[in-house]
Amino acid sequence: MIAGQTLRTLIGRVPVLAPGQVWLAGAGPGDPAHLTLHALAGLLQADVIVYDALVDRRVLDLAPASAERVFAGKRGGKPSVEQADIAETLIALARGGKRVLRLKGGDPCVFGRGGEEMLSLAQAGIPFRVVPGLTAGLAAMALALIPATMRGVNQAIVFVTGHCGDGGEEIDWAVLARLGQPIVLYMGMRTLGTVAAALIGGGLDPATPAAAIASAATPEQRIVVSPLAQLEEAVQQAGLHPPVITVIGGIVTMRARLRALIPVAAEHMAWLDEGC
Ligand code: SAH
Repeated sequence: MIAGQTLRTLIGRVPVLAPGQVWLAGAGPGDPAHLTLHALAGLLQADVIVYDALVDRRVLDLAPASAERVFAGKRGGKPSVEQADIAETLIALARGGKRVLRLKGGDPCVFGRGGEEMLSLAQAGIPFRVVPGLTAGLAAMALALIPATMRGVNQAIVFVTGHCGDGGEEIDWAVLARLGQPIVLYMGMRTLGTVAAALIGGGLDPATPAAAIASAATPEQRIVVSPLAQLEEAVQQAGLHPPVITVIGGIVTMRARLRALIPVAAEHMAWLDEGC
């Protein structure tokens, strides 16, 4: 574990997680190496860590054993803790004088209900700090050798949830298909076939390159590349499990282009197959 002194040197002045405060922090996609120093500072100071299902065990292990760990996970399709209960727990802990770290996978405000939790805390008059994290979409793309943007290829990037109907909003896939910009799908494992069909129905070329990146930044990281029309089948055949980020767009071809240039046995490039 990094000692408090080292951390102070690294970030100048460690922000104080005071009793009665909540930090709403992103834990990044997996490997603790992707944590921000502020998130680490939160882990080292918290009395209680309220964490979600996608927080890597190795991240939690950085906190002292004395910190209480409370699971408040939500996973698609499985029974989950209600959002209102999570907010109530955070408020009760803060009112009880605890230093509370609310830790979420990736970034707390990217499909992470960070907005809802900030509102609840603000309404209850609880002081809080937001600690941004590395969102899985960006991490997964970079680790798969797919740049998020590239001059001459794309001018925008779309982050979208495949968990259709989440929050009641319907997504107009035909509009996204017409944008001609890469689409990064979160929570899209179960609806992959439906979403692909909707995009193709909306005019996207069935041969559009696509990549599914499972468990990015963990030792279980796996990547499947396929034309969009066959992606669901390819993902099933490969036996990929959630969490999965799916990237759809011409930018995905960069992976093959780069890999062709990098010798397979290049020792200094071993990270490419290590999942971090
Ligand atoms: N707040 C998180 C996203 C939560 S929604 C963030 O910013 O990353 C949950 C979805 O995130 C998953 O269904 C999956 O699409 C994606 N995800 C999270 N961690 C991931 C990982 N390590 N590898 C691939 N996808 C991941």
